[in-house]
Amino acid sequence: MDISQYKIDNEPFYDAQSNEIELYEAAYAARLPVMVKGPTGCGKSRFVEHMAWKLGKPIITVSCNEDITAADLVGRYLLDAEGTRWVDGPLTMAARYGAICYLDEIVEARQDTMVVIHALTDHRRELSLDKKGELIKAHPDFQLVISYNPGYQSLMKDLKQSTKQRFCAMDFDYAAPDVEAHILQKEGGVDEATAKKLVQIGETARNLKGHGLDEGISTRLMVYAATLINQGITPVEACKMALVRPITDDADIRQTLDNAIEMIF
Ligand code: ADP
Repeated sequence: MDISQYKIDNEPFYDAQSNEIELYEAAYAARLPVMVKGPTGCGKSRFVEHMAWKLGKPIITVSCNEDITAADLVGRYLLDAEGTRWVDGPLTMAARYGAICYLDEIVEARQDTMVVIHALTDHRRELSLDKKGELIKAHPDFQLVISYNPGYQSLMKDLKQSTKQRFCAMDFDYAAPDVEAHILQKEGGVDEATAKKLVQIGETARNLKGHGLDEGISTRLMVYAATLINQGITPVEACKMALVRPITDDADIRQTLDNAIEMIF
């Protein structure tokens, strides 16, 4: 198993929002488990990828969903022509060979699935492969990182305190306007004036959160709009396609946002 295939070769572009880079470095130096919290598309995954690159460590990402089982994370016996053989899951691979394991959108996973991370996230730093009868002591480079969107919090879908209280946590939000405009220029290839207008539209939509919109427009969608503009689509069309149509089917809210777009561009 060559864990270096999970290393990131080229620097993922990342504009810091605050002192999160130093905070993460300190957490990694002590191998503390980290939770990155914030709305969808605000840069959490990009941040973790950037940090893995900066620290020169491999990163194994798992996008969680409600069907994910403990065996999907830990591993299982597979049957092939030669009989049964054990195949490590992503969590086991990271713990065994020393990678950052990033569990994205952790709340999507069922709570009983998450229990497998418990012994890895306290002083024991070990993982028991019950079916195989093996106890793995985590590699010194191993770290567990999870992302969590507090907006989706509900009684049905939340992490247990016994899971939450194994992580130190960092809050993320959409970047400040000048930082977000810079991200749009770098990622979407638009000029400064266009980027600033896109940010203005983003702010308008984010103010509607709780007044008809569940979540504001993500930086990810704003990068899409910038990319479409860069492809030659008119800004008004690009914004409708990337910023409005994906997030709501409510005719009134669509109209409000379309009007804002036409006013700003
Ligand atoms: P999340 O994991 O929070 O859902 P991502 O990390 O996938 O969101 O971010 C979505 C996109 O937004 C990225 O692909 C990137 O283009 C852009 N982005 C957001 N924040 C930043 C940032 N601080 N620096 C660089 N790009 C960013």
